[in-house]
Amino acid sequence: MNPSILADNGPDRDRFARLESRECVNHYNETTFSIPTVMHPDLPIVHDQPLAGLNTFRIPASARRYLRVTGAEQLTAVRADPALADLPRLVLGGGSNLLFTQDFDGLVLHMAGQGREILGQQGDKILVRAQAGENWHAFVGFTLDQGLGGLENLSLIPGTVGAAPIQNVGAYGVETKDVFHSLTAFDMASGELRTLDAAACRFGYRDSIFKHAIGRDLIVLDVTFALPAAWQPNLRYAELANAVQEAALAAPTPRDIGAIVEAIRRRKLPDPLEIGNAGSFFKNPVVSNEECRRLLETYPNLVHHAQPDGSEKLAAGWLIDQCGWKGKNIGPAGVYPKQALVLVNLGGAQGADVVRLAQAIQSDVAARYGVALEPEPVFI
Ligand SMILES: Cc1cc2nc3c(=O)[nH]c(=O)nc-3n(C[C@H](O)[C@H](O)[C@H](O)COP(=O)(O)OP(=O)(O)OC[C@H]3O[C@@H](n4cnc5c(N)ncnc54)[C@H](O)[C@@H]3O)c2cc1C
Repeated sequence: MNPSILADNGPDRDRFARLESRECVNHYNETTFSIPTVMHPDLPIVHDQPLAGLNTFRIPASARRYLRVTGAEQLTAVRADPALADLPRLVLGGGSNLLFTQDFDGLVLHMAGQGREILGQQGDKILVRAQAGENWHAFVGFTLDQGLGGLENLSLIPGTVGAAPIQNVGAYGVETKDVFHSLTAFDMASGELRTLDAAACRFGYRDSIFKHAIGRDLIVLDVTFALPAAWQPNLRYAELANAVQEAALAAPTPRDIGAIVEAIRRRKLPDPLEIGNAGSFFKNPVVSNEECRRLLETYPNLVHHAQPDGSEKLAAGWLIDQCGWKGKNIGPAGVYPKQALVLVNLGGAQGADVVRLAQAIQSDVAARYGVALEPEPVFI
């Protein structure tokens, strides 16, 4: 492991680090601490910022006010400015899990803080921290370059580090919560910095405290991950296990697994740079075991995965495919031919076009299977 520190150390970093190391020793759920009131710097607020280049669906929209945020000082200044403090807020990362259905008549806070550092070993974990604006895939690559495993199954997911805890990003049998240590968030309600551990984040399937009213004022500034000092590949996901077996590697490294995940994803998913999309458009619906058995009587090929709590997760992509939607479109919004779970912008789509397609799919799946599909991206 290369222990070099690659942090972009802003003025608050030392204090964060001191606080963090104290909290690392004392097992904690959540800590609150105030930041000093600062004379707020001039905020480079942009008026009427176009957003088409800032969301992976490439839906045209604009923001009434827009600010690139690199640290807590700017958020303190936003709170102190009456012209900004009362505006509706949208925190924006890479825009890869959003669907703009209209212009945003408020203030977009675009998280741009950069920096990543290896904090050191704590028990059987290596703690690694990154600022919210870091590109997620580049951060995964950084950990792999250091010889650290744990994030490789989450390779090639678009977006930023700061957004990973928001929907507890997951892929190929690993979720953010499995490798999460803690995060620092700025509380726009109180103006304080808060440190939250996994319990405080209340992670669930594509869910966390940040998606609920109680966490809506929290803006993630940095995230610390706890990676295993003694790594074992996680091959619980059958498709990945098969691909690793086919690669016939004697002793696959985290980097090898990451490369295999990337190859699978490149085969299956559209590159947002080429075709606008937000990844999986629907969550996999979770139904009771009885409901699943009822469906299996009529549809014996139903794809389902038993959950630890006894419920069953159904494959939303399979349900959509069975309803004949794969490769179909309504106007400029379409269903990706290789993966029915992904809705795409075929060119010139507005948010309303994607919503129309999504609703048609939802009503077909509900009519045929009695199952409600819930969108994964956040509608703005
Ligand atoms: C091709 C493709 C593949 C994908 N594959 C997967 C996958 O395998 N697994 C998966 O889970 N997701 C996947 N996604 C969805 C998406 O990449 C993730 O949800 C990602 O974490 C979103 O990051 P972002 O920075 O783009 O967030 P954004 O889209 O900018 O924001 C998403 C939400 O998080 C909030 N938010 C963002 N940053 C912060 C912050 N710092 N503090 C507080 N709130 C914040 C926003 O307000 C918004 O509510 C995929 C998307 C695409 C386009």
